[in-house]
Amino acid sequence: MKCYKCNGKMESVKGIRFNNYKIDGWKCGSCGEAYLNPEQAERILTLNKMKKQRFRLKLNQVRSNLILRIPKQVSTALGLKNGESVEFGLKTDNEMFIHPLKGNLKP
Ligand SMILES: [Zn+2]
Repeated sequence: MKCYKCNGKMESVKGIRFNNYKIDGWKCGSCGEAYLNPEQAERILTLNKMKKQRFRLKLNQVRSNLILRIPKQVSTALGLKNGESVEFGLKTDNEMFIHPLKGNLKP
């Protein structure tokens, strides 16, 4: 793969900064021009868009527990799969949090 600016040699690199995330890509050894991994960049743009969204979720009862369904677009963007564990807790008297426990993209 060659640099489109200077025709220099592109090298695979990790940790290119993009919207406060670090992602993989390629960097020109001569002029420093960087290309981002398109899938990783797209995922960050999707996550940033979803951070501004709010979802209205319905609680369903199974035996004595209330079940919350995570929307597909959220589980896909976060890479959550059936059977995985998340950390759940109360933030305040009327606010809850859910943290994925496996490695995801971190700022
Ligand atoms: Zn270059």
